[in-house]
Amino acid sequence: MTARQDAPTKGEGQDLEVWIDQDLCTGDGICVQYAPEVFELDIDGLAYVKSDEDELLQDKGATTPVPLPLLQDVVDSAKECPGDCIHVRRVSDRVEVYGPEAA
Ligand code: SF4
Repeated sequence: MTARQDAPTKGEGQDLEVWIDQDLCTGDGICVQYAPEVFELDIDGLAYVKSDEDELLQDKGATTPVPLPLLQDVVDSAKECPGDCIHVRRVSDRVEVYGPEAA
């Protein structure tokens, strides 16, 4: 399919999705800086994921697919998130691969 990258990332080659726990979001906007295609701050000051049609997904626990070209940006967001509230998981078994509950 796609060519391997120099630094393989955990979860590469598998479908991943991301969601935000807004209860812990501090609203600092770091995730939006890293991956504005995936995250957006709403007028309530909290971050939400967006659909691939750029629609804000505000249902609790709403997920959106992580496009492979944006995987590193999304992973960096999860690592830097001050609220520890960005969760990246495998679609197939819902196991978290990046985020506060990742092994
Ligand atoms: S980086 Fe985390 S705490 Fe900051 S706005 Fe994004 S989800 Fe909220």
